[in-house]
Amino acid sequence: MTFTPAPPDPALPPVRANLYSDTQTKPTRAMRAAMIEAEVGDEQRGEDPTVNALCTRMAALLGKEAALFLPSGTMCNEIALLVHCRPGDEVLAHPSAHILAAEGGAPAALAGVQVTPLDGPRGQFDPATLIAALRPPSRYSPPQSLVVVEQTSNLGGGSVWPLETLRAVAVAARAHGLATHMDGARLLNACVAAGVPAQEMAKGYDSVWLDFTKGLGAPLGAVLAGSHAFIDAAWRWKQRLGGSLRQAGICAAACLYALDHHVERLADDHENALALARMLAQTAGLAVELPETNLVFFDTTETGMEAAELAARVRRRGVLISAMGRHRARACLHLDIGRTEVALAAEAIRDAVR
Ligand SMILES: *Cc1c(COP(=O)(O)O)cnc(C)c1O
Repeated sequence: MTFTPAPPDPALPPVRANLYSDTQTKPTRAMRAAMIEAEVGDEQRGEDPTVNALCTRMAALLGKEAALFLPSGTMCNEIALLVHCRPGDEVLAHPSAHILAAEGGAPAALAGVQVTPLDGPRGQFDPATLIAALRPPSRYSPPQSLVVVEQTSNLGGGSVWPLETLRAVAVAARAHGLATHMDGARLLNACVAAGVPAQEMAKGYDSVWLDFTKGLGAPLGAVLAGSHAFIDAAWRWKQRLGGSLRQAGICAAACLYALDHHVERLADDHENALALARMLAQTAGLAVELPETNLVFFDTTETGMEAAELAARVRRRGVLISAMGRHRARACLHLDIGRTEVALAAEAIRDAVR
């Protein structure tokens, strides 16, 4: 096992449709033009006007007092854990949550917390499950300090938490003295799909963040929001972790561009996801989950092939998808994927299964 990414294999054909992830989007010409024009300054001294404009706009969008620009979503999650918790604390989250499954053990390695899973269908849990996991305070049990939800839930199939469930979870957590954090990597996908404003989705949550490098198509950047006190404490961790930046307005300009031009179009990705799911459902042996947003998950068990093998075969046909479990594959829709690429992907997957 090596951790260094391998360079692309020159023997493989060029990629014609990249549905590996919505992180694979390339900044458009117009986005790059906005980046060139950006006014910049020293971000870590509060002197970058474009970063400041982005943070002001994001605080309003998410309904919070303040916001902070960070290089990545992972850093948003980890800083939130560092601010909300003390080492030895217990965090409650779905077993499929990004913090549990995809951050290299950082909750334990950095914040020193233990994460206890709260199970439920499609990456979500209900307030009763949360309440059942609460421990009577005692010298023996870990202090429970935080509940984390993921909107949309990635490994839950790109599922959208219903507003009522989000609210009920936040109310139950607060009633028992726990803080709440929303991993909103794809929050705007949920908002567009459900027709609910972001600040309504995030209401009652002490912290929330949005990733600009998923379907929004920016090259880097995420914004974490919360109360003035929360963001003040987050600034110190940003400094400690090396996340304080210099002329970051170049990147914030791409994020502002994305807010202006790439939000409503997320609905196109959701439509394309449905179209792809319908095509895949016609391929014998694939069990396709009904997509709610831009992620299409399907199970390969009946084909006798593991997801990684299917992904490798599809790659040889110029199409990229990802293996998300032994038999669970994912195709991801985003702004570089139109109907032509959807048809190409469906065809490559069908041929690979045959
Ligand atoms: C991508 C993702 C993250 C991490 O964001 P990065 O910007 O890749 O660090 C966290 N949570 C969820 C649900 C994600 O999909």
